[in-house]
Amino acid sequence: MLLIHEMEGAMPTVYVYAPFTGRITGLDNYCNGSPHYPCRNAQPYQVSPVDIATSGSVLKIYLYPSRVSGVYVYIQSRCCCSYASSYGRTIIVDLYSIEGCYVGSVWYGHVDPLPYDDPDKPKEVREGWNPINGPLPLGRTTLGQCCAPCGCSSGCCYTGPHVHMERTGGARLSLYCGQIVSGGQTPIYRFDYSTPCHAQRAP
Ligand SMILES: [Zn+2]
Repeated sequence: MLLIHEMEGAMPTVYVYAPFTGRITGLDNYCNGSPHYPCRNAQPYQVSPVDIATSGSVLKIYLYPSRVSGVYVYIQSRCCCSYASSYGRTIIVDLYSIEGCYVGSVWYGHVDPLPYDDPDKPKEVREGWNPINGPLPLGRTTLGQCCAPCGCSSGCCYTGPHVHMERTGGARLSLYCGQIVSGGQTPIYRFDYSTPCHAQRAP
């Protein structure tokens, strides 16, 4: 029976952890109760949006995954009604497990490029294939940029440096408004997958 079970394959899980230490300010709704619109044209429950705010300073945004060997990345203006600025700038990360399985994707919105004098600049994410050998610097939170996100009835929903996250596939972990999440330690999304892969990619 054990042999048969092994032949049926395994069900491992990829986790994506908080990109920095901060506070949850939005899930399916903002913590003040107003609707939190995804960057995608989707209902919140379909993409499980998460806003994580800094305490006011600009922080670097890292991809912290487990069981991931590489990621395929698209950099687009998809957030804030495709606003063509760093506030709309979106890093879309396709996750490939250590077995080479595509397991799902995570979006990071409002991502500024790193400044040229940042020590992480040479390791900063690039479009296309990026091997994972530790935390991958995606950029940093924006400071002071403001636009009226789609669906905002008036003014600007932006209240300070934060990252907006969404998922494709997988599931959001149980999180709550006001929760302090630790960079690289608090899981935000999980992606259960089965081996052998349904969709595989050769790096
Ligand atoms: Zn958001």
